Amino acid sequence: MSIPQIYGSLVFNDKIMRDKLPKDIYKALRKTIDKNTHLELDVANAVAVAMKEWAIENGATHFTHWFQPMTGFTAEKHDSFINPVGDGDIIMEFSGKELVKGEPDASSFPSGGLRATFEARGYTAWDPTSPAFIKDGTLCIPTAFCSYSGEALDKKTPLLRSMEALDKEATKILSILGNNDVESVTTTVGPEQEYFLIDKEDYKKRRDLIFTGRTLLGAMPPKGQEMEDHYFGTLKPRVAAYMHDLDEELWKLGIPAKTKHNEVAPCQHELAPVFDTTNVAVDHNQLTMEIMKKVADKHNFVCLLHEKPFDGINGSGKHNNWSMTTNTGVNLLDPGKTPAENTQFLVFLVAIIKAVDDYADLLRLSVASAGNDHRLGANEAPPAIVSIFLGDELTAVLDSIENDTFFGKQQSVAMETGAKVLPHFMKDTTDRNRTSPFAFTGNKFEFRALGSSLSVSGPNVVLNTAVSEVLAQFSKELQNVAKEDMDKAVHELIKKTIIEHKRVIFNGNGYTDEWVAEAEKRGLYNYKSTPDVLPSFIEKKNVDLFVSHGIFTESEINSRYEILLENYSKTIHIEAKTLSDMLTHEFMPTLMKYLDQITDIAAKKKQVSDSISCKSELKLIDKLSAWYEKLDDLNDKLVADRKKAEAMEDSLDMAKFYQTEILADMAAIRTIADEAEEVIPEELMPYPSYTKMLFYV
Ligand code: ADP
Ligand code: MG
Repeated sequence: MSIPQIYGSLVFNDKIMRDKLPKDIYKALRKTIDKNTHLELDVANAVAVAMKEWAIENGATHFTHWFQPMTGFTAEKHDSFINPVGDGDIIMEFSGKELVKGEPDASSFPSGGLRATFEARGYTAWDPTSPAFIKDGTLCIPTAFCSYSGEALDKKTPLLRSMEALDKEATKILSILGNNDVESVTTTVGPEQEYFLIDKEDYKKRRDLIFTGRTLLGAMPPKGQEMEDHYFGTLKPRVAAYMHDLDEELWKLGIPAKTKHNEVAPCQHELAPVFDTTNVAVDHNQLTMEIMKKVADKHNFVCLLHEKPFDGINGSGKHNNWSMTTNTGVNLLDPGKTPAENTQFLVFLVAIIKAVDDYADLLRLSVASAGNDHRLGANEAPPAIVSIFLGDELTAVLDSIENDTFFGKQQSVAMETGAKVLPHFMKDTTDRNRTSPFAFTGNKFEFRALGSSLSVSGPNVVLNTAVSEVLAQFSKELQNVAKEDMDKAVHELIKKTIIEHKRVIFNGNGYTDEWVAEAEKRGLYNYKSTPDVLPSFIEKKNVDLFVSHGIFTESEINSRYEILLENYSKTIHIEAKTLSDMLTHEFMPTLMKYLDQITDIAAKKKQVSDSISCKSELKLIDKLSAWYEKLDDLNDKLVADRKKAEAMEDSLDMAKFYQTEILADMAAIRTIADEAEEVIPEELMPYPSYTKMLFYV
């Protein structure tokens, strides 16, 4: 197998378009892709013909508009290319209209009240900036999804809008700074994806994993991750075979999977692709998650993408590496050799610092979910407080600007390994920091608070929009400054921004209590849970931000707010029901069975002789009975509370009730059940234990 040959073989990419399309059509399409111009129907017709021919050559029989509704998953409805022409004959057809527009019934997708169910019509519209691809014999056309009246019902539409906003504002400020060569700016993203692999047979026996994606019960194994022996550890053959297949499938789809390794927890792994334009990276990440699951199935694994599949064991996240690139190929976050002298870099840097400080609530909101609540602030993921890590060199640069002192450039230091045979290389000027939610990593920022199952769209919408807003403010401040005064004005702007927003910079350990106290003193947000942070979506400052940049209308915001609240409550509702189900149908009967066995033994002993001691049996009988009773009571309470929650009218009150009451009920049950699990013989357990799931792969 030649990797260059299979790479992108299932993608209708630029090279194929150039080969297959008439020159003028290719040019017109490129213009649409590069300059966001409107696409004419005759161009669409010609592209459709070429696409269909290519797809059929590559084994496709169907096509689908592939989109990303608010469920967080992707959706597709397949139509075949066949068209009967009489006499029992068919031709294979695909028109420009079918390429450009689809009309799926929108009524079964979440809309948060945007679209009454009787107005079922929804539209999908081709996104020519993300290439079409073939998956399981179907030509998939990436599309945006909106309602009859044009409101966005998906995750792609606002993302594209936010990329356009950033393009506009970044290009504008660059031109004010005297950089007139730049015609457009795109944002780039490289998402690192964490996941767990467990055995399919084990998975099938756990209702909690099946219904909720995480274990709701389960005592800790004797060994967890404390030996730190899994991170970057040697891949087990079965896992290596899986990763090999996964890479191959991703490469065929033109997804540049690059890095793979074991993560900290047993059975936990990571995959990172090479970065791409944001909307392509978002599409690719959605596809990656899907393919991960599919390939796992072939290898008799199940791939878990939940943020916290195992309590007490490291959870899974996603790192959103983000930067901005000009059409001239310059990474705007590359500090160059002398960051202190690179004014353009500093303007963008302080714009991001201000954006993160002004909209830290929205960034926190963009990663909020029931699953991710188990990680953020739990000493394994970044804290829920959004702060920025800059590293020593950049912090020193900003300090010198703030204090009008001279910045002496740090010399790169040669790495001293003490062994002569090792090659010599230069040390980075700053160490890594693993606890910061938003870290500068050389020539990009890494937003690390994302949950592993989240679409990376939302966080990038917020990031792009917040940075657009600050750049727009900067432009306003600088646009009327005379050329000869520009240097001074820019310097003053950078200095003022540093002074006003340096509170969000924190280079220390984000896991400590001191930081929590310090952050509070600095006035930074610390939203601990999803219901805490969601209402900030509809605060005036944030509504104004989105509306003024054309990212969301007010009604789109309200609908998304409702969907988020609803998702949260529904998730915990299902968890609560699953837990009761496991208790009453599996765990408590198991306790009873064990109780019965012990009682039997005690009775038999007494039959042998009255004087035989049954001390241990009696002790165990006491314990098992007490646990059984407690679990019974706690489950009654959980069921009653669940009914209370269901009856609540206000969706925010409901979400808060699930967060405070129901989660506490569930935790109380778990404490008892996990204690009991430790004495139950393995062969009586109705489902595989943590030990079995995590250490037998
Ligand atoms: P680490 O594990 O050290 O955080 P990795 O090398 O695993 O880093 O991942 C870094 C990610 O950042 C990769 O996906 C890489 O392609 C991406 N990346 C690098 N440069 C940029 C950039 N300019 N814009 C966006 N992402 C980038
Ligand atoms: Mg990383």
